[in-house]
This record gives sequence, structure tokens and C-alpha cells, in this order.
Amino acid sequence: MASMARSAEQELERAVEGTDVDAIIGRLKSSIEEAGLLKELNSTTKELHTSIAKLGKALEKSCDMDADVCRALRPCPAAASEPGLLARVLAEHFYREGRFELGDCLAAEAGLMDAEQLRAPYASMHEVLEQIRARNLAPALQWAESQRAALSPEGGPSAFEFRLHSLNFVHTLQTQGRSAALSYARRHFAPHAGRGQLPAIQRLMGCLVFADREVQRKRDREQQERGEGEGGAAAGGGPQLPQPYAELMSPGCWDAAASEFARLACSLMGQASESPLSTVVAAGAVALPALLKLAAVMERNAQDLRAVEQLPVEIELGPRFVFRSIFACPVSRDASGPDNPPLLLPCGHVLCEQSVAKLAAKSRVGRPFKCPYCPMEARQEGLRRLTFPEVD
Ligand SMILES: [Zn+2]
Repeated sequence: MASMARSAEQELERAVEGTDVDAIIGRLKSSIEEAGLLKELNSTTKELHTSIAKLGKALEKSCDMDADVCRALRPCPAAASEPGLLARVLAEHFYREGRFELGDCLAAEAGLMDAEQLRAPYASMHEVLEQIRARNLAPALQWAESQRAALSPEGGPSAFEFRLHSLNFVHTLQTQGRSAALSYARRHFAPHAGRGQLPAIQRLMGCLVFADREVQRKRDREQQERGEGEGGAAAGGGPQLPQPYAELMSPGCWDAAASEFARLACSLMGQASESPLSTVVAAGAVALPALLKLAAVMERNAQDLRAVEQLPVEIELGPRFVFRSIFACPVSRDASGPDNPPLLLPCGHVLCEQSVAKLAAKSRVGRPFKCPYCPMEARQEGLRRLTFPEVD
């Protein structure tokens, strides 16, 4: 099949004015039909088409295409009090995604005064990212060394620094061969061995043994991709060599290093690892169907979703949007904090300190107060504070 297409392609390339192009295509078409390939192709794509049709139907079913999403809009007091806020959020999003031209354009049109301040940290972050993508880890290593105090609180080189060195080691092995890789290992691995990285270093040393096989495999693969020899399947189905180190050599390692660097750099800048704007949009998309339903129900009861200060129901967004544990007092509905911690009553119910103080103040001096959720009584003194574990 490939050869038929190729010869037709060559014929077309050679075609000069006056050549009957349609005839060449016609010949290709009839030879495809003769080989019964069209039938085969149709039957394999049939499944795909059915799936696509199903997806369309599922989409229509899950989102009401005619729904007016504006009904779920709620006023944002912060945006009203700070006019440039939305433009700044957008500009910062573009800067962190590395789309500097777009960010600059938006900042200039919106008249943002602090655009340079927003831009600078992301500009240097993207310079390093670009180098990582170009297979140059030097700037990333330089950054990791300069940030040791923050990246490795217990002192010495950080785990991230070691990962960069491992990647560089494998890259050296693949591009410059065994002895260059060995000397790289000698120069850079020693300080990491004592920091729990010895097993990883041993594994990397194992790569030295298997490197040749990996290189051979890569060559085979490339040859096969170029379509050399019609028996491509036979080459791919050859004896499978043990590949314990294949994952260390996969291109995915570079992507992982780039995203780890971006995450660490953002976290040292005091920024979330994912763009806050993308997160908000994604959360909004999850909540939208429930909000629209709520708006419709409230409209039927002559209420306005936009007018209520707090949503009358909770909308679950799922674990993807859980970033930290929060406790909301069931009485006051306030989130707990260091100055208003959650307290455990003897009955097992939990209220925030301020609510407990209010309940205690209502009861007579020296008398216990009744739990709002059960008949048991409690005293304000000696209640245990609760601490919620951090979510990873
Ligand atoms: Zn209780």
C-alpha cells in the first residue's frame, strides 16, 4: 500500500504541465480498490465514526445547548471595587503561559501600570523552560543551585537538582557515549549519594551496560518509521530485549523535568502550580450545570440567584479542586482559621470557637450550654482544638 502511494506521489511530483493528473489519481484509486483496502479501511473507521456520533449525542444530552449561561452569573464584588483586576488576572495568565506578546498587548490596552512587574518573574522562568525543551539543562541547574536554601530546607543539593543531573547523565550517554557519561557521573553524583539517592545512582550506572542496546533499538525504530523494507512488522516483532532502563531514556523525562521546574519556580514565587485562571474556568465549567438548574428552580420560586449573598446549596466540584482542608462552622457558616479554630464538643460535634463563645454567653454563668445538634451539654473551658491534615 505504502509503495503504491509513494509511486503515485513521485509521479505527481514529476508531473509537468499537460500531464493528466486525474489519470494518475484514478490509477491509484483503482489499485487501492483492487487490493480491497478501501473495504478494510471503511470497516476499521466505522468504529471511530460510531464513537464520534455517540460523543456528539452525549454532549448534547449533558449540556443544554440552548441554555442561557448568563442566568448563572453572579456579581463579583472584588471586580467592581478594583477595575483593572480582570485585565491583570488575564495578563498574568498569559505571562505565566509564556505568551508574552499577548500579555503585553492586553496590559497596554488595559493601561496596567505594573505589567513589567507581573511579567519579569515569568520571563526568566520561560527562558529556563525553553532551554530545558532544547535539551540544555545548564540554566535549570544554575537556578536549582541558587535556590538550594528554599528547595532543600535541610541543606545541601535538592532532589530536583539530582533529577536534573540524572537527566543530563542519560543525555550525555545518548549523545556522547559511555566514557563522557561516566565522567559526568564522577563529577556530579557524589554529593547526592549521601542524600538517599544511592539506589537511583546505581540504577543510572546500570544504563551504561544497556546503553548500546537502547541505541540499537532506537535505530531500528527509526528505520522502521522511515518504512525501510516492506517487512516492517517483522523488524518490530524481533526478539524483545530486556528494557529496564527504557523509561529513563524516554522523551517524557524532559517534559516531566520542565513541568517540575515550572511548578517549583511558581511555588517559590508564591504562585499556585496551575494557572489560577484556568483552575477557575475549569471549576466554573464543572459547576455550571448545577448553577443553571439552581437558577431555574429559584426563578420558579420568584427568587434571584444573583441577589443572594450565599448559594443556598453546596456544589461539589470533586477532588481535583480540593487544595486544602477547610472547616466551615455549621452554626455561623464561617470558615475556621487560626483566630477562630474548630473546637470538638464532648458529644463529638464540632463548632468554631466564636460560635461556642456565643452559645456559652447565652447560657447562665457557670452553667453548661446545650449542643445545637444533640441534647448533650458542654462547657466552654477545656474544649479540644481540631487540626485538619493538609491535602497533598
Ligand atoms: Zn452534639
